[in-house]
Order: sequence, then structure tokens, then C-alpha cells
Amino acid sequence: MTQKNTVPEWVNDAIIYQIFPDRFANGDPSNDPIDVVPWSTGPNRINFFGGDLQGIINHVDYLEELGINCLYLTPIFEAPSNHRYDTKDYFQVDEMLGTSDTLQALTQALHARQMKIILDGVFAHVSDRFPAFQDVLKRGAASPYAQWFLVDDFPVKQYPQPTYRACGGLASMPRLNSENPEIQELMCKVGEYWIQTANIDGWRLDMAWEIPHKVWSKFRARVRGAKADAFLLGEFWGDATPWLAHDQLDSSTNYLWRDTVFRFFVNQCTDAKTFVREIQALRALYGPYGSTMVNLLGSHDTPRLMTICNDDSAKVIQALAFLLTDIGVPLIYYGDEVGLTGGNDPECRKAMPWGGEAWNHEVYDASKTLINLRKRHPALRRGDGEVLMASGRILVFSRRYAEDSVIVAFNAGFQGEDITVELPDKLAVGGEIWRSSSEVSLHRTLSSDPKLSIGLPPQGVLIMARSLE
Ligand code: CA
Repeated sequence: MTQKNTVPEWVNDAIIYQIFPDRFANGDPSNDPIDVVPWSTGPNRINFFGGDLQGIINHVDYLEELGINCLYLTPIFEAPSNHRYDTKDYFQVDEMLGTSDTLQALTQALHARQMKIILDGVFAHVSDRFPAFQDVLKRGAASPYAQWFLVDDFPVKQYPQPTYRACGGLASMPRLNSENPEIQELMCKVGEYWIQTANIDGWRLDMAWEIPHKVWSKFRARVRGAKADAFLLGEFWGDATPWLAHDQLDSSTNYLWRDTVFRFFVNQCTDAKTFVREIQALRALYGPYGSTMVNLLGSHDTPRLMTICNDDSAKVIQALAFLLTDIGVPLIYYGDEVGLTGGNDPECRKAMPWGGEAWNHEVYDASKTLINLRKRHPALRRGDGEVLMASGRILVFSRRYAEDSVIVAFNAGFQGEDITVELPDKLAVGGEIWRSSSEVSLHRTLSSDPKLSIGLPPQGVLIMARSLE
């Protein structure tokens, strides 16, 4: 691929934190629904916890200390459900979350600390309470909005089976007809509106594969017209390359990377050589976009990292260490940094525990240290990678950028290993050293032929970063 990469410059340095707004923090009890449940309740598909935008504003200090510099919020516009992927009004912040003013205040609070914010754009489908769909239910083919949806048979019926295309076949979520220029105009208007109204920094685009390529090109032109460095991140679970080239989207959620990482670090069913080959093949697939794909270990659509790791903190920390030292933009799902547990939706959407009692402090301390290490070292954000050792369960690589360099060593195995790594020319190491546990040992031979002797327990990680001072 020889296309130019036109991803906004700031994305190279982004460390993204995903928030499910109903579950992060409740900063304003006055906007809670009457049937709000106590914060410690187990989540189900219909309960509301009262989390809101003010709650996020109240925790900006927490986010800054954690070290992240970009927020991604799952949908915040008026919608009947707690996940809000069923939009009723694209131009209103849901009243349980706050107002357009609260969103502006959040954006300002983040920008004052050099943090960005992207919102979730859900354009493949809407709620059946979306006013245009209600009109089609009433007036059928005579409705001016009849062509906004994919109706198979008039009159439109919702039950027993919808007579229109719907997300997952659910009558409550009719699909939008994105081939219709009026829908394309609606998408573009929404894309511009929240940049102009609240100064957001881009969009995460839900089920991006459902929308035709030419529509994303149009959307991109309009959004970039409103903000020249707005980021467009598509949701994809497989190969996203057809949606990245030719002026469409900038990046994709890299679930393929997640699968690969889990095979090596969590399920331990690939060896280091295979793992390196898979990771490099994936990066090569994305060509000029490879270094800004959004890598993630979990989201609101997957079981929690801690649960996938069978409550093994060492495995969680090892996976986070790889996320934060590998090439690609890391995304952390709220709560994973404190070891929150949970299976598939709805269990992966528990309320964020505050106060620290329910935190896994080992995971939190490691997350904070690793995120801030990435923030301090351009080698970890923008550097090339070089594999120094890939053998059995051992992986060692270096990353370099200008005068900054970092070495990372992993033992993804069941038993301790002692390894000797020969350092390539000019690889300056020393300065900061981070060990995943006190059992990780390090001896340096500082001769003309520098070597490192490293002792790594199972799930051990060692990071050496040359400090920039
Ligand atoms: Ca509230």
C-alpha cells in the first residue's frame, strides 16, 4: 500500500479510555430516573445506575492521574435503553446524562488538561421511538420518511415479526437506509453539530461495516471541514482495510489484535515465534494505518479482561503491559485498570467501584505506571519495534524513537526462565526499570559487547526505558 496516511497527528500519542456513561460515576442525583438502582447492584439489560456527564467531570483528576489522554464515551444522546445504541434524538444529550452545556463543560475540562474526547456515532439503526420511524408506523408508504428505513412490506408491522430490516432482527431497532441521501445528510449534520456545539475531537462509529464506503467519504469530508484534526474510528471485529483506504475512516477497533494477544498471553496456545509472525502480519495488513490501529483487551461487548484471565492478576498485568508497549493506539475499557470482573454483556457493564476497597491495587498500580511510562517515552508511542528474542514462551523486543529507547521482556509461560539478551548497537538502556514482580531479576554486562541477564518468573515482565533527562 502506498497511500498517504492522513490520520490526525495527535492520534499517534493517544491513550484512550472508554466509558459507559451510565456506569462510570453519578455526579448529579437530580437527573437520575425514579427506578435508579444502588451503585453496587449487579447489572442487567434494563437497569439504570444514574451515571452521568457530571460524574465524569468530577473524576477528571482521576483520569489525569491514571495518565490517559483521550476519552471515548459510548452513546450519550437521547435513547430509551441504558446503552443508548438505540437513538431517539441525535441532537439532544440524554437528560439522565446531563445537557449540551454539561457536555461542553466536560470537553472544556478535558481540553484544559490536554485530553481529547470522542463520541459514539450510531448510524446503522435507531430506536423505534425515533420520530421519523413513528411517522412511518402511522402513515406507512405515505410518510415522507418511508424511504429512511428498509421496509419490506407496507403497512409496517412490528409484531410478531418486523416487516422492516432491524438490528439483530429486534423490532425496537429499525435499520436506517444509508443509501438514502437524506440519511447521509442527517449523519453529516450530526457529525458536524457536536463538533460545533461542544468542540468534541472525533467519532467512534458503531457497526461501521453496515454503512457504504462512499457515505463514509462524504461524512469524513464534512466532519474534517468542521474540525481539521477530528479522529474517525470505526467499530470493526475483522479486517477493516476496505474502510480505511481512499479517504474513509482513520482507524479501527483492533479486535484481531486482541484475539492474537489472548492466544499467546492468556490461553498460551501459540509460541513466541508464531505470535510475532501473527502480530507483524496484522500490522502489515494495515500498511500505513498499522501504527494507529486502536488495540484493545476488552470493551462493553466482551467479557472483562480479568474474567478472561480467570482472575489471574499476573496475566492481566502482562496483557496490559503488552497493550501499553506494543505499536498501536491503546484503548482501556473503564474499570479494567482496577481489575473489574464480569462475563459478556450485561456483566461487563458493572458500575465503576470508587473508594478503592473493591479495587485490585496490584492491577491499578501497574496500569498507572505503564500508562505513564508510555506517556513519557516517545519510543513507546511512535518508535519502530525490533524483536530481540522470540523463543518458546519468551518474547523480548525493543522500541526506539530518536534518542529514546525501551526494552521489554515477557515470559508468557508456566515456569521461570533465565535468559541472556544481546543488545543491538546503539540501544541505550538503563534509567527507568519496571518489574511486574519482585521476582524479576536483572544483571547487566557493561562491556564492549553489552548483554542483559534477566530472570523472569511465570507471567514476568521487565521494562527498561532510557530516561530522556
Ligand atoms: Ca445522575
